[in-house]
Amino acid sequence: MNAITNNTVSIVLNNVGLKAVKSGHPWLYDQSIIKKNKEAKSGDIAVLYDEKRKFAGVGLYDANSPIVVRVLHRGQPIQLSKEWLADKFYNAIQKRQRLAADDTTTGYRLINGENDSIPGIVLDKYDTTLVLKIDSTCWLPHLQTLTDIIAESQPLDRLVLRMSRSVIKFSDKEDGEIIYGKIITEPIIFSENGILFYADPVKGQKTGFFLDQRDNRAETGRISKGEDVLNVFSYTGGFSLYAAKNGANSVTSLDLSKPALDASIENFNLNEFTCPHKTICGDAFEEMEKLVAAKVKFGVVVVDPPSFARKLSDTPSALKAYHKLIKLASKLVDRGGILVSASCSARVTKEEFFEIVKHAVKASGRKSTELKRTEHALDHRVGFPQGAYLKCVFTRID
Ligand code: SAH
Repeated sequence: MNAITNNTVSIVLNNVGLKAVKSGHPWLYDQSIIKKNKEAKSGDIAVLYDEKRKFAGVGLYDANSPIVVRVLHRGQPIQLSKEWLADKFYNAIQKRQRLAADDTTTGYRLINGENDSIPGIVLDKYDTTLVLKIDSTCWLPHLQTLTDIIAESQPLDRLVLRMSRSVIKFSDKEDGEIIYGKIITEPIIFSENGILFYADPVKGQKTGFFLDQRDNRAETGRISKGEDVLNVFSYTGGFSLYAAKNGANSVTSLDLSKPALDASIENFNLNEFTCPHKTICGDAFEEMEKLVAAKVKFGVVVVDPPSFARKLSDTPSALKAYHKLIKLASKLVDRGGILVSASCSARVTKEEFFEIVKHAVKASGRKSTELKRTEHALDHRVGFPQGAYLKCVFTRID
């Protein structure tokens, strides 16, 4: 078994770094490093030691990020070989067995980065198209190894490469490039709980679809029968289609993006749903104000905004934005109807978010009963504190 590269850097960690590695944390910052034996490049194998030169772990070096090492292993020394990595991939994919066995769901996450002990890597599946998303330059020199591992792990038509913005500029590949298999000649269609969706893994947000909301969509479907449903921040209509499939009286999708709304209409057509579907293109705050002014009410209102807090300093304004949004949305819920509030801001804790929802509903002058709180789905498992971002609460509004 050969190492994935012969380029190795030895790194001596201080106590903070050592503690992070020992506790299983996947990130090491520059401040945790006492010294390294040479200037390292992204993708070099970082062999980690304590101050007494005792082996602590192995990771990959990232020369372009404040997170200088993505830790892959701790404990006894190992050879960071293709076989060793393939085993990690296999273990992560095995954890999705329940989804793999379910024919009604052919789109889901196979590898959830740090949370599956493979930091910097997300692997999503849309039927026979797989999408590899890289968010650390430490993987760029190893793309061929990753491609080989993935192609050997299961049958697939193609592998699409997506990269976060901070990685694209260091890559000789295009974002959205097909790095293995056939070119795309027909739209990519996958199924989620028996509902068909188009995915755009080449240009779409994330890897082409928000796979993390599958369980919350299913729950929303269950409460939508006979109801008029408003889906705010609808993107390509994930929640809207579940409502339609489960017998909603009508569905309204609201989003700022016209292409996303057009895609939601195409998804309705794909499933041949007959439930009336209206789209509203505009800013959620402004459009909800208009609906409130027009005294329109809905039996179910879903609010699933983008992350409001991308950096720590955004947190206070994110909390305010959530409050404003939920207060507005509450006013649109019919008596006895249900408000579904979701947050994907990792910097807002679930406790903070659930509190905000409670207060915002109260501030709208309505009484409420919390029905259900949810967090991460099986394929978006959480493996370290910063990995928890998704939370959702179902509230009955009286
Ligand atoms: N609920 C969706 C995912 C939402 S992603 C799903 O289940 O798939 C966030 C969406 O919010 C994106 O589609 C984006 O276009 C939209 N968006 C961002 N800012 C907005 C705004 N101010 N008003 C309305 N929509 C907005």
